[in-house]
Amino acid sequence: MDKRHDVIICGCGPAGATAGLALARRGHSVLMLDKARFPRPKLCGGLLTWKSVRLLETVFHESVPGLTEAGVITHVSDRYTIRTPASLLTSGAMPYPFHFIDRSRLDARLLDHAARAGAKVMLGARVTACDPGGGSTPARLTLADGTVLEADHLIGADGANSVVRNSFLGHDRDRFNQFMAPAIEVTLDPAALPEPVECPELYVGFIEAGYGWVFPGQDRVLVGLCGLRRGKVKFSNLFRDFLDFLKIDSRAVPPLRGHPLPYGNALENPVCGHAMLVGDAGGFVEPLFGEGIFYAMCTGLYAGEAVASALEDGQAPGPLYTARLRRDISPELRGSDRLRWLLFRAMKLVGPRSLSLFVNTGSTRLAEMVHGRRSFSWLRRKQWDFLKPGLPASDK
Ligand SMILES: Cc1cc2nc3c(=O)[nH]c(=O)nc-3n(C[C@H](O)[C@H](O)[C@H](O)COP(=O)(O)OP(=O)(O)OC[C@H]3O[C@@H](n4cnc5c(N)ncnc54)[C@H](O)[C@@H]3O)c2cc1C
Repeated sequence: MDKRHDVIICGCGPAGATAGLALARRGHSVLMLDKARFPRPKLCGGLLTWKSVRLLETVFHESVPGLTEAGVITHVSDRYTIRTPASLLTSGAMPYPFHFIDRSRLDARLLDHAARAGAKVMLGARVTACDPGGGSTPARLTLADGTVLEADHLIGADGANSVVRNSFLGHDRDRFNQFMAPAIEVTLDPAALPEPVECPELYVGFIEAGYGWVFPGQDRVLVGLCGLRRGKVKFSNLFRDFLDFLKIDSRAVPPLRGHPLPYGNALENPVCGHAMLVGDAGGFVEPLFGEGIFYAMCTGLYAGEAVASALEDGQAPGPLYTARLRRDISPELRGSDRLRWLLFRAMKLVGPRSLSLFVNTGSTRLAEMVHGRRSFSWLRRKQWDFLKPGLPASDK
């Protein structure tokens, strides 16, 4: 295998696959690495909003019927409920449906798109060390078998526990970890729940700054809990309390699995030397609901296109990438962060009814905000640049 590459992408989840597709489609040579072999399991609720579906259509040329036929989309619902341990807070219909996907299948399919566009994919390759390089020194990755690879451009798409991020000079690990939420999720047979689950159910009040969920699927139900831990209660004990509250028989519950969720820690500057971070590696997750698949794909697209432009006309990719992030992504994440603290504090001070009052007051606009038709920044109409009509993805 060649040691030196124009571009290496570390991590082949939605962020890495979208970056790889954007580069390969523009004819660039790109090596994609992942420690896993696909399809690989990924702990995730699998909820897609309107903007995620539009991005899949526009960038991957995937359609809802095609994804449904392939078993990627397993359930569709335009309804929701929000509950507390004591009562039903609110429920209603959304102007656009939520689509629920099988993450393992979606990720394998997105990676396949990148590979078919010409990206080289190396699976079972764990990166153990990274040097982002700088100036005339290329970025360097060391693999578990001792192989050292060099790249003119490195995209770190290696998820929440990113090795690439940890190599960034000046990266404030303490702050990043402070807003890394523990999350536990189990997949259950629908019969394990006392009632059938038809629409996403959110539960607030089990954890400060976080929530529990019960998400439907074709032949399974996903039950999860995430949030910023406060106090000394063990997170797995909170989760078991949540299962008890849902009247789920503990014998029906598989061994608990957890994964950290970036929850309000998006990096201001995700560029260092010749490396840039996308998706969970850069903390790009919307901090009210923990929606990360869209932000992974979107930041992957932006980084891939920035590196492609750099290779074509010699521009530095870092400023291209961060300019697009600051215009389209950062205001959403900041607005969502403001809103979640407002809501969580109001619930603590006034009680959970403050949440139902808030949701019911501007329900259509809020629903549009969740789906990405409106911005988390003051509910302005949101125009995603990858959706601008008439422009090929590479020119937007
Ligand atoms: C419990 C839970 C529920 C969630 N539910 C939802 C939801 O319903 N909707 C939603 O939009 N988001 C949800 N999210 C968030 C979403 O899963 C993430 O934001 C999304 O997976 C980020 O994609 P990514 O490509 O950045 O990272 P990942 O999908 O984590 O991909 C990273 C890839 O990098 C590889 N990798 C990691 N380290 C290395 C290494 N050292 N060497 C080589 N390869 C490596 C991994 O194998 C993996 O394939 C949820 C998250 C959790 C934890």
